[in-house]
Amino acid sequence: MLIGIDLGTTNSAVAIWQNGEARLVPNALGELLTPSAVGIAKDGQVWIGTPALDRMAGHPQDTATSFKRLMGTQRTARLAARDYKPEDVSAIVLEALVRDVEALTGEKPTEAVITVPAYFNDRQRKATRRAGELAGLSVSRLINEPTAAALAFGLQDKGDREPFLVFDLGGGTFDVSVVEMFDGIVEVRASAGDNRLGGDDFDDALAALVKPRLDPEGMLAQIPDERRQALLKRAAERCRRALSTAGEAEFVLTIGETRLAATVTEAEFEAAAEPLVRRLREPVVRALRDCAIDAAELSEIVLVGGATRMPVVRKAITRLFGRFPNSSVHPDHAVALGASIQAGLVGRDAALDEIRITDVCPFTLGVEVAEQDRYGGLQRGLFSPIIERNTPVPVSRVNSYSTMGDGQKQIEFAIYQGEAREVSGNVKLGQIAVPVPPRPAGEVSAEVRFSYDSSGLLEVDVHVPLSGESHNLVIVDEEDRPDRKDIEKRRAALARLKHHPREEAGNVALMARAERAYEDHIGELRQMIGHWITEYAGALDTQDPRRIADARDFLATRLDEVESASPL
Ligand code: AMP
Repeated sequence: MLIGIDLGTTNSAVAIWQNGEARLVPNALGELLTPSAVGIAKDGQVWIGTPALDRMAGHPQDTATSFKRLMGTQRTARLAARDYKPEDVSAIVLEALVRDVEALTGEKPTEAVITVPAYFNDRQRKATRRAGELAGLSVSRLINEPTAAALAFGLQDKGDREPFLVFDLGGGTFDVSVVEMFDGIVEVRASAGDNRLGGDDFDDALAALVKPRLDPEGMLAQIPDERRQALLKRAAERCRRALSTAGEAEFVLTIGETRLAATVTEAEFEAAAEPLVRRLREPVVRALRDCAIDAAELSEIVLVGGATRMPVVRKAITRLFGRFPNSSVHPDHAVALGASIQAGLVGRDAALDEIRITDVCPFTLGVEVAEQDRYGGLQRGLFSPIIERNTPVPVSRVNSYSTMGDGQKQIEFAIYQGEAREVSGNVKLGQIAVPVPPRPAGEVSAEVRFSYDSSGLLEVDVHVPLSGESHNLVIVDEEDRPDRKDIEKRRAALARLKHHPREEAGNVALMARAERAYEDHIGELRQMIGHWITEYAGALDTQDPRRIADARDFLATRLDEVESASPL
């Protein structure tokens, strides 16, 4: 079975295409969104999603969140004394989603369409595909998130649509796509974005604003870094969400016996978020300019991604486009639903017979060159584009380059992605050196062909006509080139982790929630929660389903009461 997965920075979701319809699959707790959070204990026990988030305040060093932001880098997360690559942790989330589909349909999916931010570079895409492989999935397609959302939006009532713009601001990334739909063809005209901008940054801005007020005595400085960050982040997110529905909200943090609190108004938050809001404008302008469409020609501004719920972002959009955005697709569900529509397309489902989709390469790809200037000097480190941004994909383009030195024996091509004139301002993707017959400068040329496929993966071929030789490079970081054996080894390591049995998911989640409540409070209430937890643990130990059910109801009701009495 083929499934569609939205592997998000904050939340992930999985959908299936079934009986001519896209459908989200609930997790073991009945949630349609699974927080992209993983906690691992020393004994290899794993927590995924909401329970992992609840457990985080007490075990920040053993919990990973926002790991999507590190995809394609060499950074690792250290959980329970072992290093995990971002793709390993992603694989743990993907496996959980696979199990959810299996629980619903009775069938284990083996193939998936996974979404990535349009602005993800080649390394980030390859890391995502590896995450799928590590989770035992063959990834038939990577599809851009705004494109998936456009599919979900475009197919809502199947009519033709004037150009519309998908504005996708998630937890960690920002993408803009201009899309048109006619005669069943969903055509992405242009994409642009910023893969380092999302709700997380608004959390940081809010925390920075509040910290001096919240903590005049510098208590926070005495807490270990990781724990401080985790506490601030969680408090900031809660406060920011509250600000989405109220003019002011309290920023609350509990450290041991001390409760730190400060009130933030929407206006203060807006001012603090101003530099971030300004960064939303440029990708919009660039995408519109690249496809020569005027903002006035857009029929709709479609909002996707949880962070578009922030009033400060909605206001900015309204100002930017001079009209209110469209909220007819569910901002958190559209991407996964669109991915499952793409899965239906890959699987050639009859209900999708007339639909086709065309996407673009959202950034420029090229090589490093040197140019002779008119004074005889050599300007090095310049970028020579081969595939210009927003070219429809799949695409294959070739450019020819000549030697610059007499008797030169090889030409080295460094491959870059980006828009800067000098390669130092772009992202290096790889390098290939090809031998050439020694001749006077300029007499030997090499043809460099870039092929960019529909999943956004790049292949480079270099042909030297004089020698007749060809060389091929599939771009992967050298140190990051895992072979089959490595993938198998990492899969085996993931397989050794201990998952809670599915039928216990509710109990595990409730325990994590109760422990979080314990950490959040002080004094008598904290003691009381501790007592409830002991009782609940005792009931679990009896393994008597009736007692467990009673104890669970009791604890859940008490926690509801405690939480509804909280200041937020
Ligand atoms: P996504 O990556 O699309 O799941 O988006 C997650 C981001 O949306 C996170 O930064 C959340 O804090 C943010 N978010 C979700 N709901 C809200 C809300 N009601 N108000 C403000 N931000 C929200």
